Amino acid sequence: MINYKLLTPGPLTTTESVKKEMLVDHCTWDNDYKQITQNIRKELLKLAHVSEDEYTAVLMQGSGTFGVESVLTSAVGKKGKLLIAANGAYGERMEDIAKHAGLDYKILNFKYNEIPDADIIAKEIESDPAITHVSMVHCETTSGILNDIESVAKKVKLLGRVFIVDAMSSFGGVDIDVSGIGIDFIISSANKCIQGVPGFSFIICKRTELEKCKDNAVSLSLDLYDQWQCMEKDGKWRFTSPTHVVLAFAKALEELSAEGGVSARYARYSNNNDMLIEKMTRLGFETYLDRNQSPIITTFRYPDSADFSFEEMYSFIKERGYAIYPGKVTDADVFRIGNIGEIYAEDIEKLGNIFEEFLKGVK
Ligand SMILES: *Cc1c(COP(=O)(O)O)cnc(C)c1O
Repeated sequence: MINYKLLTPGPLTTTESVKKEMLVDHCTWDNDYKQITQNIRKELLKLAHVSEDEYTAVLMQGSGTFGVESVLTSAVGKKGKLLIAANGAYGERMEDIAKHAGLDYKILNFKYNEIPDADIIAKEIESDPAITHVSMVHCETTSGILNDIESVAKKVKLLGRVFIVDAMSSFGGVDIDVSGIGIDFIISSANKCIQGVPGFSFIICKRTELEKCKDNAVSLSLDLYDQWQCMEKDGKWRFTSPTHVVLAFAKALEELSAEGGVSARYARYSNNNDMLIEKMTRLGFETYLDRNQSPIITTFRYPDSADFSFEEMYSFIKERGYAIYPGKVTDADVFRIGNIGEIYAEDIEKLGNIFEEFLKGVK
């Protein structure tokens, strides 16, 4: 088995100590396990800058998409109408979820290299009184763009609608003042900036809005309200929980705190990202975005050479210890490099040297 580090937006490279937590088979019904779940929920509220009176955290089995699907199908349900602001594949995935669940929805599509405009969103809401919920992505991992959720939240709140944010790839790596901004539901998952392993998503919910989800869900296993009701009693998950993943996540939260919290992690990721862009630009690569770049993941254009092959470059880099990520934007030939997870300045330096070596062979 070759050992390499992941320069992807999740799953990502985790610490040995987080991986070691998974060597224990833990039962799900005893008090110490339930207490671990409760502590995780409390810790997530702290990271979101919210009080336990106003907000609650719900953990949901599955990958990040399961969390988004849980919120949309439980909150919008059969009665509401969702407005989606999309500028990438994850915004578009919300449309896919809405379609599958038969939700009433409308989508506003923005260019992949532009942030959704708060005024355009506000106009759309004003012209359609049926709209009850507005959703968008924070860091659109498709391109690496960081959307302006604050400006959109202001309008959405002014117009009295529910605001849902997919902060999958940013929560824990970029500080988000959830109650200050006015977010009603914010979704992330275990295997992104908290640096756990894949297996569940989590949702920080405004209690008054979560209460309204009772009997509203169109799915059994993704019913956010029922999941909450069960978990809220004593920390028991409604159906079998991913025990190993939960133990690893608890450890990852401890390590986030030991690193100095979200601000320290943001500083490390930002430094990785600055170094990466500086080095790649010096080697002649162009970034896909010219502004609103997040410190999470960067999209680079293919070099202008008939001789270039992404597959060759990918293998060359992987053999030397790093896995990069294919592109996902639809209007350009690009690849992506994530810089979250257990990745440090020395990794970015090594990666830069590997790219330099690879380019020597490209005419
Ligand atoms: C990773 C990610 C998701 C979830 O993807 P899964 O493959 O279901 O974990 C959703 N939205 C964004 C912005 C993401 O980065």
